[in-house]
Amino acid sequence: MTIGLLKEPEGELRVALLPESVKTFIDLKVNVKVEKQAGETAFSKDENYQAVGAEICERGEILQADLVLSIHLPSQEEIDQLKENQVLVCQFQPLSNKELVDRLLKLRVTAFSMDNVPRTTRAQSMDVLSSMATVAGYQAVLTAANQSPRFFPMFMTAAGSIIPSKVLVLGAGVAGLQAIATARRLGAVVEAFDVRAAAEEEVKSLGAKFVKVEGAKDEVSAGGYAVEQSQDYKEKQQALIQEHAKKANIIICTAQIPGRKAPLLITKETVESMAPGSVIVDLAASSGGNCELTEDNKICEKHGVKIIGNSNLPSSMPMDASKMYGKNMVNFLKLIIGPEGQLNLNWEDDIVANTCVTHQGQVMSSRVKSILY
Ligand code: NAD
Repeated sequence: MTIGLLKEPEGELRVALLPESVKTFIDLKVNVKVEKQAGETAFSKDENYQAVGAEICERGEILQADLVLSIHLPSQEEIDQLKENQVLVCQFQPLSNKELVDRLLKLRVTAFSMDNVPRTTRAQSMDVLSSMATVAGYQAVLTAANQSPRFFPMFMTAAGSIIPSKVLVLGAGVAGLQAIATARRLGAVVEAFDVRAAAEEEVKSLGAKFVKVEGAKDEVSAGGYAVEQSQDYKEKQQALIQEHAKKANIIICTAQIPGRKAPLLITKETVESMAPGSVIVDLAASSGGNCELTEDNKICEKHGVKIIGNSNLPSSMPMDASKMYGKNMVNFLKLIIGPEGQLNLNWEDDIVANTCVTHQGQVMSSRVKSILY
């Protein structure tokens, strides 16, 4: 079997496998072809891939491999060239991309979407969403600290005292918890908010205060994810967030609901009520943003508040983000590669079955099937 590793599109600095991960597949007797300069922006040169046994090829050849691997989806034209039973492994948010899923079904491609890996204990080592959220939460706080006109920690100096920055984190999932930990390490006073009751303990254990709105819908059936809240809850929540936002110097927005538009938590009025010089980093920018004034992939200043809309912060730390992504890929691909280096699709394995979106013209993931079809 041959794995083809694609170079990511312009602007993305990560790569799905670093040479250290490629070596694992070579040891498993799998051929690995790497697109020319695929790892360049993550500081891995073609020679580094060749040194572990990979072959450097042009993109066209990579796209003919038995298993095509990347982080972002290849272009539409490239997808249309994929053959029946060819395996594609990348991230393509099937829940908000039905047209694409339909096309993959028609092409009879076996497509795995890594954002579909079940959030179970056994799948943790393959969970790219968690690894990338860890990077994003950390980078969000460093970005905010860089853009803020204030110190994060408290200082008592001969030039007077500096009070610590107040950070409000909205959404205490993987990215939010990492943002809390990073802001605490930098000495800020941190508050956090989430609709899931389970988040309270986690927030408190990191030394932050939990902002609580009573009456949240917290559905066990959602597999640990948040669910859409009632109108009454949303109004109470907005009033409380406005109260806390007014006092915050930094807001890190991470609240998301899979397959839905991100919840709107910071209105235009809330931004107007914030102190000039405050900074908002919105990680939910690509799904609509938690802040009404967020512009995706832009830094803008509104009412004296800097708003950074960036859902791809992991790309700004390409070396370690690629290392984590690659390690997740090794753990996942080992499930579908047999002892002789051959493709081995075991549909009895819930991780394989649920991560796979399409196979031989059928939708495999029960979650995708129940929501889209
Ligand atoms: P996510 O990126 O989908 O969302 C981020 C956070 O936003 C979540 O905590 C969510 O509850 C919160 N949120 C959604 N709507 C909100 C609103 N209106 N107001 C405030 N907060 C809101 O989530 P995630 O970080 O991927 O993690 C989701 C859950 O899955 C967490 O419980 C996490 O611990 C769990 N998880 C489990 C595993 C595992 O067991 N393998 C792995 C990763 C995550």
